Amino acid sequence: MPTPLSASSAPDVEAACAAHDLTPAEFGALRDAAQGAKARAYCPYSRFRVGAALLTRSGAYVTGANVENASYPVTTCAERVAFGTAVVAGYHQQAQQQQTQADGQQGAGVGGGFKAVAVATDAVGPASPCGMCRQCIREFCDLSVPIIMFDKDSKFIVMKLEELLPLSFGPDSLGVPDPAKS
Ligand SMILES: [Zn+2]
Repeated sequence: MPTPLSASSAPDVEAACAAHDLTPAEFGALRDAAQGAKARAYCPYSRFRVGAALLTRSGAYVTGANVENASYPVTTCAERVAFGTAVVAGYHQQAQQQQTQADGQQGAGVGGGFKAVAVATDAVGPASPCGMCRQCIREFCDLSVPIIMFDKDSKFIVMKLEELLPLSFGPDSLGVPDPAKS
């Protein structure tokens, strides 16, 4: 794991943003959104709160938190809650944006895919998305999309999806148009 940086250090934030095509304002908004979502986690069993935030290419922020269940496997991670919400809102592909605008429907401007993913936990040291969530992110994001992981003190690391999930399997592997590239 890379050495964690500090979200309260302007040079650390600026370096991370420069490396991943983000602005410090976007970085701060992602942190706030992920940490805010974490506060709404439903996790009476693990008591391990997780918040996720997605920055769409159209400039919207979509959040999710982990939602646990008495039947443990029914539990859904924060990242997958966020992506489910984003897909229903139409943020996941460029084609959706064009269709929406062509129809002249309310909601024009959504779509375009995702620019960054952020995850926040109460762990000491940044925690990374589980394997299932890495695969979920792969479905909708370009391999270059940064995944920012915040710990309880806003220490963070950033890794690209292709670093967290090398040799990945995605829509293009099955001959289906890749939402991240359409
Ligand atoms: Zn997960």
